[in-house]
Amino acid sequence: MESKNNICDSCGDTNCSAKNQGQTESKEEYTDRRRMQARLCRINHKIIVLSGKGGVGKSTVAINLATALMLEGSRVGLLDVDIHGPSVPTMLGLEHETLQGTDGGVLPVELGNMKIMSLGFLLKNQDDAVIWRGPMKMGVIKQFLTDVEWGDLDYLIVDAPPGTGDEPLSLCQLIQPLDGAVIVTTPQRVAAVDVRKSISFCRQVHVPVLGVIENMSGFVCPKCGEITQILPAGGGKIIATDMKVPFLGAIPMDPAIAQSGDDGQAFIHHYASSPTAKLMHDIINQIKTLDKPQEGT
Ligand code: ADP
Repeated sequence: MESKNNICDSCGDTNCSAKNQGQTESKEEYTDRRRMQARLCRINHKIIVLSGKGGVGKSTVAINLATALMLEGSRVGLLDVDIHGPSVPTMLGLEHETLQGTDGGVLPVELGNMKIMSLGFLLKNQDDAVIWRGPMKMGVIKQFLTDVEWGDLDYLIVDAPPGTGDEPLSLCQLIQPLDGAVIVTTPQRVAAVDVRKSISFCRQVHVPVLGVIENMSGFVCPKCGEITQILPAGGGKIIATDMKVPFLGAIPMDPAIAQSGDDGQAFIHHYASSPTAKLMHDIINQIKTLDKPQEGT
């Protein structure tokens, strides 16, 4: 049964793409698209966090961005669509949470003023591997966007699967309009090559690049706080400049970030006074103030 909030008949936007059924679209597909659009219309800003490969800190950035916005008083949703490695529940200490269904969909898990949805909540066992073929993955992505009862939100932060394959592509096509993408990389040149691909990907799917973050850039000594460059730094910045997208800043490798992730606590909240949290805030403030860049920049 559809709840009242799932239909968009009352909306006055005559330009909305959900107003008309597509020529090749079945009635069922059209109804689903309208339900999805009705949900997404209630979210002011939608930001996707991308990376060329896994393990570079994409979820860490997504979690801390969402937490910082929530702590400032915004209504925030965090959608973890990292299908093969949904780490958000563990990194926020929510791994034992289960989902509750409603008439029209499913309720996200709440942590303070933040609403969280992750495939991790659907796995019976944390050690379960998700072995799905393409159509099943697409199905779950669509379901996440159609069935989750976010309600009214100021921001939805989407933690996308790594790479530039079918899953991030579907997300960018389905979440309309997206304010833009934040691309996370590590400093080495090998990782930076993937950043180029991620930027090109955004250009192809017409998603504005809000900027590049270079994570694990240098190491913060837990004793004296000094940052030592253990890998050649600057790869992310060079590529951002070269490809004419904003460089948002660098986050050093900080043992407290890894520790807070393992402890299920958002770093930016629990280590709020640390110099690394301050660097994260500087980056997040830029993301907030970035006016929508021109398409493809
Ligand atoms: P991804 O989402 O790209 O796969 P994660 O955000 O899950 O990456 O990060 C991978 C691991 O690295 C996690 O254990 C996380 O706590 C840790 N990590 C991420 N960024 C940092 C950092 N700047 N300093 C220390 N550890 C980090």
